[in-house]
Amino acid sequence: MLRRVMKIPPLHLMWLWAVGASGAGEVRIAERGGPAECAIVRPAGASPSQVYAADELRRFVGEMTGVKLPVVSDDGPLPARAILLGETRHTGRLLGGPVDLAALGDDGFRLKTCPPHVLVVGGPVRGTLYGVYELLERFGGCRWYASWHSVIPRHDAWAVPAVDEAQVPAFVMREPFWFDMFDGDLAARNRCNGNAMRLAEKHGGKIRFGEGLFVHTFNTLCPPEEFFDAHPEYFSEIDGRRVRERTQLCLTNPDVLRIVTERLLARIRKDPGARLFSVSQNDWQNFCTCPPCRAIDEREGSHAGTMIDFVNRVAEDVEKEFPGVWIETLAYQYTRKPPKTIRPRHNVVPRLCSIECDFSKPLPESAFEQNRRFVEELRAWGRMTDKLYVWDYTTNFREYISPFPNVLALRGNVSLFRDNGVVGLFEQGAYQGRHGDFAELKAWLLAKWLWDPERQAGPLLEDFFWGYYGAAGPIVRGYFDELHGFHGDPAGKPLRIFDDIRTSAIPDEFLVRAVRMWAEAEIAVKDSPPHGHNVRMGAIPALYARLMRLPPHDEIGVWVTENPGLYDVPPERRALAKELLARFGEGKNVRISESLERHEKVLGDIARWATAMPHVTAPVRSSAIVEEAQLTLANRGEWGDFVKDPLAEDGAAMKLFNTHYEWCTTLPFGRVAFDPGKKYRIRVRLRVESAGGVDGEAFWAGVYDARNRRSCGGIDRKVGATGEEYAWYDVAEWVPERDHYFWIGPGRFDKKGGARSAVGAVYVDKLELVRVE
Ligand SMILES: [Zn+2]
Repeated sequence: MLRRVMKIPPLHLMWLWAVGASGAGEVRIAERGGPAECAIVRPAGASPSQVYAADELRRFVGEMTGVKLPVVSDDGPLPARAILLGETRHTGRLLGGPVDLAALGDDGFRLKTCPPHVLVVGGPVRGTLYGVYELLERFGGCRWYASWHSVIPRHDAWAVPAVDEAQVPAFVMREPFWFDMFDGDLAARNRCNGNAMRLAEKHGGKIRFGEGLFVHTFNTLCPPEEFFDAHPEYFSEIDGRRVRERTQLCLTNPDVLRIVTERLLARIRKDPGARLFSVSQNDWQNFCTCPPCRAIDEREGSHAGTMIDFVNRVAEDVEKEFPGVWIETLAYQYTRKPPKTIRPRHNVVPRLCSIECDFSKPLPESAFEQNRRFVEELRAWGRMTDKLYVWDYTTNFREYISPFPNVLALRGNVSLFRDNGVVGLFEQGAYQGRHGDFAELKAWLLAKWLWDPERQAGPLLEDFFWGYYGAAGPIVRGYFDELHGFHGDPAGKPLRIFDDIRTSAIPDEFLVRAVRMWAEAEIAVKDSPPHGHNVRMGAIPALYARLMRLPPHDEIGVWVTENPGLYDVPPERRALAKELLARFGEGKNVRISESLERHEKVLGDIARWATAMPHVTAPVRSSAIVEEAQLTLANRGEWGDFVKDPLAEDGAAMKLFNTHYEWCTTLPFGRVAFDPGKKYRIRVRLRVESAGGVDGEAFWAGVYDARNRRSCGGIDRKVGATGEEYAWYDVAEWVPERDHYFWIGPGRFDKKGGARSAVGAVYVDKLELVRVE
């Protein structure tokens, strides 16, 4: 339930309107240079967040007008003019009736002007504080876009116009799970109260999960390492066998129920301030298929059958001791489909996950099959519980810094969840670092819509683009609008959270222009460092996408050329890589990918491309040694391996096994810098261990032209012609091209009739490349 008296005008209009000519019923708060005539009144028994609400109001009125309002407690007389916070001794009389705090809940508030006073009526948890932020945001024009970027306008006079409205949020638990929004002040000012926010007592705390029981908790509550050996029957039965690795719990086993309940209760007793405790499946498949589990799941048409049945039993016991605690479980992957007859208890919170969906447009508007199923399942869950949670996905997890045009879907999705009875919404974004694609915008919009999904996108976008990018706002908005057009049509390519920017629907032509647009945007704010910073960070996804779309260039590892500059990183790649590295440094704590391994790989690539290659400036070389470690080995472990070999010059060699004779070792010449059009000789240093008593081929090697499918020369040798010592063998003389490669394999033999190789093994020590003309 949410009631609004006034529409929200765009920011720049609103300032004029809020401070314009005096309107009927308005309350003047402060005038620059004037006395502090209006007092802030808080209850004598104010909660920490109400004390903080008074401090925040005093601080921001001071920043807006230069006037520091006095803060007094309500045990004195009512001042001549006042902003009264919470339920003061005077509030009921001014309202003309009793104060109904219960209707406002923990987070709701009522704003009412009673000239010459303003009432911010709210409860002690967070409601009063949120009411103060609404007052400042809506009538003062204050904005908190990021932890480093607020807009606090300067007013010559500030008045609150006539207002009487109550607001309660659309969702009980609001969690835009984005890195910067974890900042406690930013989260509180944008009215987020979720688990990950660093909300202190002064912010009114938060709704949180019990310590260590956030998600995927089966292995925590009933660990296989503790129980499996003695009781394999506690864990998943798959194909008639109990499974220890990547297992789930056997949810019909009464001992499992007892263990999970006891351990959960022990944890709740240690952490009674938490509202939610998760009893949920591990993050893989492998549900139990023992006969009792299977019977329930078949009857219910879903593995959510055993899951909800089990969690209900746990929750029933928990309720006896902790009636206010909610037990959360996942409706995720194999448990997404709702059960036919079993219903979650009133203290059970199913959390439905949208991981498979298309996010290019609001979920119900996409023709993508996974969306159709998800929306059906959402509606079904919504009909069977009043405590549905959703875990939604709002960024590209492969690369947070890839353009991910999902903003126009966000509001529709939040509305859909609200309309289907969702009470807690977890909007997972780039949570490990700053400056993912439009990260600050997405977190801020989500905060606004989790409070009230009725707010239109247009004014909010206008507000943000002006406030956050300053004079560059229109240019960035142009980029944003065009970017969001590429997935627009109903049959368009779906936008999914692990998409690769190299193959996305965003055209190269646009990315070329996008880099220019951001450069223009930077010029537009050159006189405003705070906006300049936001523009430089905002450009990262466009620069990154352009870099990833450049044609691949060869990574050179071997240099035999008089013209090393020919093989340097191409200038555009070098420039983009340097620019990105610089901006990562300025941005601090930029995280590229959810996967740390991928983050480090991409960062390493970019750093390499940004730096001048050492060989480019090294002396000219007409020959080079290639150690075996630089060669590619196929089917390592089966066809050969890297081994220690005291006979090799560097003490190491590549051993080719005698189990096969395929070309198992190669050196692609795309990795070698040659002088174009010149002739080279390649030789290999190797030794042959004979099999004893079998005469036949020892090895074969050559240079192959993959594009034209022809040989450029090669050799083979019989065992009798090799000896057991290392020796150099000339392989070919030819004019190299980038599609050529060197290859070698152990000697051929007839594989029919149990015949075997003439060699025990072949050891490759190194290659040599020499320019011969
Ligand atoms: Zn079972």
